[in-house]
Amino acid sequence: MLKVFCSPARYVQGRDATLELAAELIRMGLTGHVLCIAGPSARRQIEPTLIDTFGAHGIPFSILDFAGQCSVPEITRCREAAEHAEAAVILGAGGGKALDTARAVANALDLPVVCCPTVAASDAPCSALSVVYSPDGIFEKCLFYRRNPDLVLVDTAIIARAPVRYLIAGMGDALATWFEADTTHRAYKANTVGGAVTLAAMGIARLCYQTLLQDGQAAIAAVREGALTPAVERIIEANTLLSGLGFESGGLAVAHAVHNGLTVAPQTHAYLHGEKVAFGTLVQLVLEDRDSTEIQDVMAFCRSVGLPISLQDLGIASLSSEQAREIAERAIAPGESSHNEPFALSVADMQDALFAADAIGRDFAARHA
Ligand SMILES: [Zn+2]
Repeated sequence: MLKVFCSPARYVQGRDATLELAAELIRMGLTGHVLCIAGPSARRQIEPTLIDTFGAHGIPFSILDFAGQCSVPEITRCREAAEHAEAAVILGAGGGKALDTARAVANALDLPVVCCPTVAASDAPCSALSVVYSPDGIFEKCLFYRRNPDLVLVDTAIIARAPVRYLIAGMGDALATWFEADTTHRAYKANTVGGAVTLAAMGIARLCYQTLLQDGQAAIAAVREGALTPAVERIIEANTLLSGLGFESGGLAVAHAVHNGLTVAPQTHAYLHGEKVAFGTLVQLVLEDRDSTEIQDVMAFCRSVGLPISLQDLGIASLSSEQAREIAERAIAPGESSHNEPFALSVADMQDALFAADAIGRDFAARHA
């Protein structure tokens, strides 16, 4: 298996980076009508700046309101709007789902894509894939693209003003990165782009975890006050760039498969991707029979920043064996990243790990109340 590493063509991050968006597009040679697919709050955040800077640089653009779910009907609707507008560049602004939709539209029309996340809630912005859900929020499939985004531009002033829960969820997604890359590498399995894991991807994944441990709590404290500090900048980079490159070129394993499994439980629909991935990470550590001190360390980190450590923290007060089976079946379905583990997994293994991780988490919470 050949080693493969991929990344966006350009990554730009910093306070008020949106002011540089038009100049960055010109620098990248991305000309013509820009169709911006934006969620409602993203629109409020960036529209005035787009009017000013795109106007000053003579870049024609229009904004299409994103309806909220990255689903097949929504991708089709946005694609038709892009065709109607004769868009030459697709720009996604908002959370992971708006960006996933923008990437799907750009791929369908073979157009360049720019991602402007307004939250640092997931590892999605840098990737060459979209996660597609049914209109009512059940995980359906991943769409994989030939190329990563042409440009990812992260305005940290906007992200620092977003509700802190998003930054915490992004840390949950980033928490899985090191453990999933490590497993994929050790099992000689393929990363998300079908190659063996490079030293670069391993280094990035490790740095992602170290950054969370070092800066996580300070970043949360700052963002609770709406403050943008160097620690916040580093956590935004960990959640967006390190976790993005880390999961794609490092690989996924049980943590993300458990996330996909949890989406079949309606109780978890109010919870964010990264919140479910954090619990999925604990399930992975239990399944891999990791040292209990390591599991306790990860739980302590989760508690220190407010990430879930039990199913109760994800809205499932008591898990029935029927529901556990449903989640487990989804998590080990063919094609799921749980098969990147170095051992074969049965429904019973997965089901038992769900119950065990939950019990360890509840016990940890009781002892540290
Ligand atoms: Zn993720």
